[in-house]
Amino acid sequence: MTMTLMDCRDVSDDAVPSHINPLTKRVFSEKYKKILEKRLKLPVWEYRQQFIRLFNENQIMVLVGETGSGKTTQIPQWCMEEVLKYAPQGQGVACTQPRRVAAMSVAARVADELDVTLGEEVGYSIRFEDLTSPKTVLKYMTDGMLLREAMTDPQLRRYGCILLDEAHERTLATDILMGLLKEICAKRPDLKLVVMSATLDAGKFQKYFNSCPLMTVPGRTFPVEVFYTKEPERDYLEAAIRTVVEIHTCDDRGDILVFLTGEEEIEDACRKIQQEIENISSSGPVKVVPLYSTLPPQQQQRIFDEAPADSPSGAFGRKIIVSTNIAETSLTIDGIVYVVDPGFSKQKVYNPRIRVESLLVTPISKASAQQRAGRAGRTRPGKCFRLYTETAFKGDLIEQTYPEILRSNLGSVVLQLKQLGIDDLVHFDFMDPPAPETLMRALELLNYLGALNDDGDLTELGGMMAQFPLDPQMAKMLVDAPNHKCLNETLSIVAMLSVPNVFVRPRDAKKAADEAKMRFAHIDGDHLTLLNVFHAYKRAGYDDANWCYENFLNSRALKSANSVRSQLERMCDKFKLDKAGNDFTSKSYYINIRKVLVVGYFMQVAHLERQGHYLTVKDNQVVFMHPSTALDHKPEWLVYNEFVLTTKNYIRTVTEVRPEWLLEIAPAYYDLSN
Ligand code: ADP
Ligand code: MG
Repeated sequence: MTMTLMDCRDVSDDAVPSHINPLTKRVFSEKYKKILEKRLKLPVWEYRQQFIRLFNENQIMVLVGETGSGKTTQIPQWCMEEVLKYAPQGQGVACTQPRRVAAMSVAARVADELDVTLGEEVGYSIRFEDLTSPKTVLKYMTDGMLLREAMTDPQLRRYGCILLDEAHERTLATDILMGLLKEICAKRPDLKLVVMSATLDAGKFQKYFNSCPLMTVPGRTFPVEVFYTKEPERDYLEAAIRTVVEIHTCDDRGDILVFLTGEEEIEDACRKIQQEIENISSSGPVKVVPLYSTLPPQQQQRIFDEAPADSPSGAFGRKIIVSTNIAETSLTIDGIVYVVDPGFSKQKVYNPRIRVESLLVTPISKASAQQRAGRAGRTRPGKCFRLYTETAFKGDLIEQTYPEILRSNLGSVVLQLKQLGIDDLVHFDFMDPPAPETLMRALELLNYLGALNDDGDLTELGGMMAQFPLDPQMAKMLVDAPNHKCLNETLSIVAMLSVPNVFVRPRDAKKAADEAKMRFAHIDGDHLTLLNVFHAYKRAGYDDANWCYENFLNSRALKSANSVRSQLERMCDKFKLDKAGNDFTSKSYYINIRKVLVVGYFMQVAHLERQGHYLTVKDNQVVFMHPSTALDHKPEWLVYNEFVLTTKNYIRTVTEVRPEWLLEIAPAYYDLSN
């Protein structure tokens, strides 16, 4: 007899004897029952029968439900119960998330709900971190990871059901997955696909998936009163902090959610809010909690802590969450009554003409603004303070954020599609096809890197590059490094470039931090400085938090660089790439490494002009070295890792190269007579 989960409502009914949890084969625990009571109150539970019926009667369906209605945590569990009934042994359920933080946090929550250990029956998989086991039947993962899995399992046979969550975000990977899954579903009638979205305009998804059924779960939200500023704010950060302090001192009970754009800004705001509120003697206690993607998991969980108790004098205790877009739809935090929305987020922008992709602080769309406001009405009527004018909202904000596929460099994705055997990109069923120029740029880059031949077919080298979870440039560096006898060093540099910034620069100790950084500085540039740091970290015995602290280094980032490095090293071993060779005492030790940087990034080279600025080689853009560089002089030629647009055009993480290497390594690109 196969064990199935009974309708869980029965379990809360004392008249019904306890059942066995089919995942653990144990009797449902007290913990399980306690959380179940809460779960049963989520809006999606009223639609359980209807969902199960549609799920069983159709291969593909679209589910729309407001943020917080229980889509991400509940629906995949139901799908799992159904799939367990009929799918062959070993087939499970995957639920994709555009954000790493959401994948981790939701998996932890669902493991709790099912009373299992995270990483066993319920797990998650994000780039460079896989917390699953052979027992895993429900896996939360980033959309990028599922796309990677398709490369080794083109029909995604290990899944009986796939849920694409947060489809309204239209991330690059989700868009590509929609195209792929549409094809896979046609070939695999046993595969179920559920597309979930938080916005009502899901008709587009429905139409795309051959007019499949669409199910809508109305949210249970309370009215939210929206306020605008009379005049545009000059400094949105300062305005946001002021607004939070005003709400805390004047408004009724309830937690506050503030939307800002990135880690540094958020940490800064948290500190200032805490300080200002501490200076007001009559105000109640606050707990100010940051939320952004590079925050370690234990700290992410703090957003779910209770607000502090009221002060003895009766002033309200409050939780104040300062978050990036993550809190817009991916994570639901209960108890929010006030939302402060400055109207910005960091978004990827790509200009194919100058082939530059960068993250820019950009005004949000109307749809985003509405989602943000909605976060205030989850538990009772709320207020949303928009730090822009009503005229700006109506006239300046675009309706919807453009899909990421229209704003991205497609190098990685095109390489992956080629590896998946999708050669005819022009006829791939994109929901919104990217601009032909963007596709051309991607093909051109991959051709220069040797990943595609002149006919646009994947080369052996390209096939290898596609396996690495890296940008094609970095993958090329690894694959080619043995030719320059420096795979070990290249692995370390690539790992260091793949984690958050390792250098810590506290506001009150900038000088000491800069001095500490200079002790690692390499005369030829930042990539080699990163290598020095990694080597020193290794000498310090890895994972020595004290040593990191004294040297103003982020121990978590270094630890993760070390783990990334081991994973990449295993892949290199699989391809039998030769790690032997580079002799530290030889004069060419660093030259070899710098040449490998050119192997990957020859299209990202800048030349020093007489006026003191640099010009990029590929399109003559005026750029400057980023002030964070460890270089103390201006070399004539630089290879750069990143183009940063702020007040000026900066190139960040730069290393000196020689012009003759450009000709030697990338003749097709540099030798005009070719
Ligand atoms: P949706 O995907 O529709 O936005 P979710 O399934 O993510 O909704 O969330 C449903 C509810 O689950 C939330 O309102 C919240 O109460 C609860 N929840 C989710 N994650 C956690 C967590 N880590 N800790 C406590 N409660 C959580
Ligand atoms: Mg969700």
